[in-house]
Amino acid sequence: MKKLQAKLTPDYDSQSLKQALGKMLADRVIPKLTDKKRSKATTTMETTDGTVEVSSDVAAWFLGPRGENVDLFSELVSVALNDHVFWRRNFHPSDPSPITESMKRDEAYLDAVDLIKTEFYALLAQLKKSGPFASMRYQGHMTWDQTLPGMAGYFAAMLYNQNNVALEASPITTVLEVEACEDLCQMLGYQGTTPQPWGHLTCGGSTANIEALWAARNLKFYPFSFRKGLTAANSTVADTFTVTLPSGGTPVLLKELDTWQMLNLSVDEVLNLYNRAVDEYGVDAVALNAEIEPYSLQNMGFMDFTQEFLTDPTVGDPVVLVPASKHYSLPKGAAILGLGAKNMHTVPLDVYGRMDVNELKEAIDDYLAGNTDDGKKHPIVTVVAVFGTTEEGNVDPLVEILNLQTAYRAANVDFTVHADCAWGGYFASLLRDDGSGGVPIAVSQYVIDQYQALGSTDTITIDPHKTGYLPYPAGALCYRNMAMRSLIAFEAPYINSGESETPPEWLLGTYGIEGSKPGAAAAGVYLSHAAIPLTLQGYGKLMTLTAYNCKIFHWKLLEASSQETDFIVEPTPHWPEETSTKKEAVNAFLNKLSGKTPQSILNDTTGADLATLREAGADLNILTYAFNYKVNGTLVQDLDKVNAFNERIYDRISLKADGRDIYNYKILVSTTSFFKDTYGEVFFEDYRKRLLGITAVPTSSSGSGERIVVMRSTIMDPWITEDVDGKPFVDYIVAELFDIVREVVAEVLAAEAA
Ligand SMILES: *Cc1c(COP(=O)(O)O)cnc(C)c1O
Repeated sequence: MKKLQAKLTPDYDSQSLKQALGKMLADRVIPKLTDKKRSKATTTMETTDGTVEVSSDVAAWFLGPRGENVDLFSELVSVALNDHVFWRRNFHPSDPSPITESMKRDEAYLDAVDLIKTEFYALLAQLKKSGPFASMRYQGHMTWDQTLPGMAGYFAAMLYNQNNVALEASPITTVLEVEACEDLCQMLGYQGTTPQPWGHLTCGGSTANIEALWAARNLKFYPFSFRKGLTAANSTVADTFTVTLPSGGTPVLLKELDTWQMLNLSVDEVLNLYNRAVDEYGVDAVALNAEIEPYSLQNMGFMDFTQEFLTDPTVGDPVVLVPASKHYSLPKGAAILGLGAKNMHTVPLDVYGRMDVNELKEAIDDYLAGNTDDGKKHPIVTVVAVFGTTEEGNVDPLVEILNLQTAYRAANVDFTVHADCAWGGYFASLLRDDGSGGVPIAVSQYVIDQYQALGSTDTITIDPHKTGYLPYPAGALCYRNMAMRSLIAFEAPYINSGESETPPEWLLGTYGIEGSKPGAAAAGVYLSHAAIPLTLQGYGKLMTLTAYNCKIFHWKLLEASSQETDFIVEPTPHWPEETSTKKEAVNAFLNKLSGKTPQSILNDTTGADLATLREAGADLNILTYAFNYKVNGTLVQDLDKVNAFNERIYDRISLKADGRDIYNYKILVSTTSFFKDTYGEVFFEDYRKRLLGITAVPTSSSGSGERIVVMRSTIMDPWITEDVDGKPFVDYIVAELFDIVREVVAEVLAAEAA
């Protein structure tokens, strides 16, 4: 018996075991500990403005890929729960309790508990089949770990179940929503007091986009309702009321404007009409609103409104212009709002996958000149620029779009500009340096320039539940001019904070598409912003790290690709135009970074390596790429075959909703397709040529209906380029991916040979 026990249980007193343990400690654990110290030292960035630690506070912001911060999170959750229960008990402490201890021994009670627990454990088991989003192996969809303060704030407020539809239902979380959205407005560049900006939370970017279109549509038509109402309320004033046209110059009489001029007043001019009638012309505010309201588009509907006001036969339907890479919510919005999806003009992309501004200008010129199917001039409601396109993470050329807008104003044409920053919104934190030291900027100068211009747009969609790393549902719409929100409510665009006790920005429920909405979401966003400021040193650090990691991923793919003989990977990002050929550009890029590591690039005090990295690759933190394989040393040129090949690869590394468990996946990515019909010739054919290694589009190209299947990796993980066990995890990811591709190549070649 004694002998047997000795066999099973190690004898910790034995000298040899002690020695072995000691050696193991010396060999493995101690270097790891000192490595940790070293790796902490190497993440310290030497920059001209001092030494900066890049990662240690980021480590506190998440529960962590391995649940490293479970103690911290449990503490916050249990404090929230206890605190909430004390609060319940302290509200009239001597009230009777309807749930007694003896009840808890009743059979029915015990049965009910039984059922709750059984079902709960069953649910937990099911949930384990979810996507492992927080894993370092998950590089797919736009989702990842949530910030720890975001979840803690959400959990704490969920217990209080406030509804931000009305102040009475959410006396606290409404205020948190207002504060969180003030932060967002400020980060995005809507600053200053005149006009005052305003934002509110929505359930997501889709509803925010639809609301933005809704406000822009109503703004376009408001001058007609106003003029009619003003005439009824005070015809003397209506005879003398003047407005300034977009080109500036001497004010002109409102009553003399023709339909086209009415449809082309500038945003702030329209939003100021009512205020001016009341403040400058002394018209009675209530009477004026009562006369305008019956003639609003909201009230009349398009059919009556058109018959009443839009009788000019030379003027056609209003148009919205969006890039080909638009999110689906925009055409959905155009349909819901009765604008007609056909009046949403899709502008093709340039070789970089961004809205082609020349195409945009041509389209606008055609609409303005009546160079259209119906021969009519069409007013432009809004132009949408996307910051972080859903599929590619690209940033549209906002600076040029705004320059165009300025140029059209000279010709008395105007429209609103909406920025769909549902994905890219939090990258604006890169521009808000709190002065406490340098965090490396890993996005290109082009991208920075576009973000700098955001403050000149009229509305911005931003999703805290995307790059804010917050729990769903949390989207937001920000207005540069708070008065614009009135256009979607049945009220005059007038902000009078003097008369009411409630600050107008606290009135949330009146505006927007939703009714009830979770106060918990607002608390989560609020707490996350409080703990991780919307500055370069807070969220900005997270954004720049993920952009950096995406750039490194791009580099590692190219490097690995250059060493393969049987296949290539072709990332979508286009190389700068000045480089002579793509091959030369890639070689020059790889040479410059040859022998470097993610850490050494950060440690390069000249900043040259980082600059090399920053100017290549994706705009933000999403990378799309496709593979092609070689038969007898030549890349396959049949696009259908290449698509099938990529689908085969994807099949092995995609999450399937078929209930299988997730432990067999080595890595996970997502996929998308570029359609020639939507994306346009320029972008599509450029990428086709690069992927197939050809210089001219084959004449057999079937034209319409063509698509290119690509992989898509959204990099939200700040850690994949940090040294863990001696090398960055991104190396494992690329190696796993390439192993899978090698297997698929072998399979496909074998099938073709058979
Ligand atoms: C995700 C996304 C949306 C839609 O946002 P939801 O929150 O999913 O409704 C809109 N536009 C862009 C660019 C997006 O990435």
